[in-house]
Amino acid sequence: TAHEETLGFQTEVKQLLHLMIHSLYSNREIFLRELISNAADACDKLRYAALDNDALYEGDSELRIEIEHDEKAGTVTVRDNGIGMSRDEVIQNLGTIARSGTAEFLKQLSGEQQKDARLIGQFGVGFYSSFIVADEVTVRTRKAGSDKSEGVEWRSKGEGEFTVADLEREAHGTEIVLHLKKEAKEFADDFRLRSLVRKYSDHIEVPVRMPKVETAKDDEGNEIEGSEVTTWETVNEATALWVRPKSEVSDDEYKAFYKHVAHDFSDPLTWSHNKVEGKLEYTSLLYVPGRAPFDLYERDGSRGVKLYVQRVFIMDDAEQFLPLYLRFIKGVLDTRELSLNVSRELLQQDPKVEKIKGALTKRALDMLKKLAKDQEAYQTFWNTFGSVLKEGPAEDFANREKIAALLRFSTTHTDSATQDQSLADYVSRMKEGQEKIYYIVADGFNAAKSSPHLEIFRKKGIEVLLLHDRIDEWLMSHLNEFEGKRFVDVAKGELDLGEIEGEEEKKAQEETAKAKESLVKRVKEALGDAVQEVKVTHRLTDSPACVVLPEHEMGFQMRRIMEAAGQ
Ligand code: ADP
Ligand code: MG
Repeated sequence: TAHEETLGFQTEVKQLLHLMIHSLYSNREIFLRELISNAADACDKLRYAALDNDALYEGDSELRIEIEHDEKAGTVTVRDNGIGMSRDEVIQNLGTIARSGTAEFLKQLSGEQQKDARLIGQFGVGFYSSFIVADEVTVRTRKAGSDKSEGVEWRSKGEGEFTVADLEREAHGTEIVLHLKKEAKEFADDFRLRSLVRKYSDHIEVPVRMPKVETAKDDEGNEIEGSEVTTWETVNEATALWVRPKSEVSDDEYKAFYKHVAHDFSDPLTWSHNKVEGKLEYTSLLYVPGRAPFDLYERDGSRGVKLYVQRVFIMDDAEQFLPLYLRFIKGVLDTRELSLNVSRELLQQDPKVEKIKGALTKRALDMLKKLAKDQEAYQTFWNTFGSVLKEGPAEDFANREKIAALLRFSTTHTDSATQDQSLADYVSRMKEGQEKIYYIVADGFNAAKSSPHLEIFRKKGIEVLLLHDRIDEWLMSHLNEFEGKRFVDVAKGELDLGEIEGEEEKKAQEETAKAKESLVKRVKEALGDAVQEVKVTHRLTDSPACVVLPEHEMGFQMRRIMEAAGQ
């Protein structure tokens, strides 16, 4: 073929291919979901591009996906008449992994099957999953609207390199032919394919068709040779899932749809599907994933919802509709409030976007509140995304109280590193006369738990929150109170236990302070400028001394963060 070249895969792709083939064997049917998902995306993209330019359809505006197989040859073909790819796009999309952080992510993989399968799942395997079942893959594609001579053929055995060549191609869109491995021939089977299509693509709006061969029969019921007629039969439900009424969508369908939208292959923890009419019209389907994507903390990690305007796909990862601290939420937003030719730039200026963002934020927080009723599921959520949610009070002042109610902490009540106690739990256990919520921030759980500052609290049976995440001091600097109870750092300022301490105790403390005045003076002289002040304290019961920060001083954790940032 003309202009043929063989290129090497990017190192990351090679690594991914190797690991995927070895660790996803027991999940190998997912290749079909990935290919259908890509084909559906390609149809969505063409429909969007054609809004401005009808000619892109090239006279064929009935978007569809076709799946064929050849049992004898051992092949499965997935074809779409979507947007297609140019030669450059083929090389880019099917030769590299563009997401940032990929290299670091792949380093964590160890070759340990189960662990790697979990990790790769969180990465999203995509097109390359073809090589779990195929020992050779051929892609033929042409970008919609381009000249027939601008088709491309891509071929690879998944072993480090691929070949691209020019191709004369009548139809636009993409066709992917998998040459199945010997041990994966079972997929070249009509029944198997149909059931997989139903399982994975009922929720996709584009029809997925498979050929049905019918043979005419003579009067005696015998098949007439040579009379085979092939008709295309739509196998999936082919309605966008979020458009359907809630009551008609099963949990399995919601889960399958999640996997398409989120490029994840484990189940979501929960979801919330809402159709809103009236002043602000939109349909949203939001999901809480069961695990974190590898780029959760990457600055440019993918986040946001899939945006549709009146059922027409507009863009992936529309990040303007949810705050940063809810970046783990995945899903779909479909609205009539925006125009079909809205762009990322226009989204930033549209006041409607702010309104929808406010509404979706409430939906997401409500969904978490509901999830919290299921302790086990919520703990999974918290362990996975808790430290992201902790960014909330700083970012979203208006929803501070709601977010606070969703937070979970370690406390002296359980003395466990597991963050599983809510502020409401804490408040319900407050001592009579206790007006404040006490907490301590330290570098790790053990440091928090064994801090001498806790001695008096333990003695009196007053609960203290044990904060030990990197972000905790930042969090506490944005939370002033919960249900009217002020937060107090036990390591800062004067210790005032308020009503919990009787008058007599207070008197005794004052007397001790007087009696020890000369000792205090000597210690102060010895320490000199290293300290601001030396005081007698009743914080301690066993330890002889501790360091205390002035009330409004930046804490140790924050100081270290600021220092690290060069401030
Ligand atoms: P993802 O779908 O998460 O982007 P994939 O590995 O599944 O990752 O696909 C990589 C890219 O290849 C897609 O983003 C898309 O640009 C391109 N691609 C894959 N399949 C098709 C297709 N059928 N039609 C057009 N482009 C495709
Ligand atoms: Mg994909």
